[in-house]
Amino acid sequence: MKLDITKGIQRKGSQVACDLAESWGEDRWNGDVIRFASPVTFSGSYLLADETVVLRGVARAQIESRCARCLRPTLTTVCAEVDEAFERDTGEARSPEDDAYVYSGHTVDLTDAVRTALLLEMPSRVLCREDCRGLCPRCGQDLNVADCSCRRERDRENPFSALASLLNEDEEV
Ligand SMILES: [Zn+2]
Ligand SMILES: [Zn+2]
Repeated sequence: MKLDITKGIQRKGSQVACDLAESWGEDRWNGDVIRFASPVTFSGSYLLADETVVLRGVARAQIESRCARCLRPTLTTVCAEVDEAFERDTGEARSPEDDAYVYSGHTVDLTDAVRTALLLEMPSRVLCREDCRGLCPRCGQDLNVADCSCRRERDRENPFSALASLLNEDEEV
């Protein structure tokens, strides 16, 4: 996601509005493959303070990841504030601790800053719906689609667990 800052260089110190959109495709998050399902957009403004580009705005994306319980592909709409500074790359060696974003010429690559901001807004556990019943830990059946017989079998193997669940049901009433 590249920002052309020619206007900002011509008018140093004044805000320049910018609107960008780009399709990103697949990525990785939390050890799993995710997908940017719609173009990622950034809307905001920037200005040049000396040689530093100061950027502010909002990034939006629809991210497809897997439901934490049933693994079904699930879309999450993510909206993130981006407030970053990009220093002009002087070509000098940078220390490894220096993690400032850099740019060179008339182009600022916003990809890393926008991607990081968006992924930070992802919920730690994505659910396809609040009451997703997930997969049976024993046979893998998607319990949203149909029940499996594991529960009944388990109760038959261990009559006390059946009794316990009966007691629990009584308690709930
Ligand atoms: Zn689910
Ligand atoms: Zn099962």
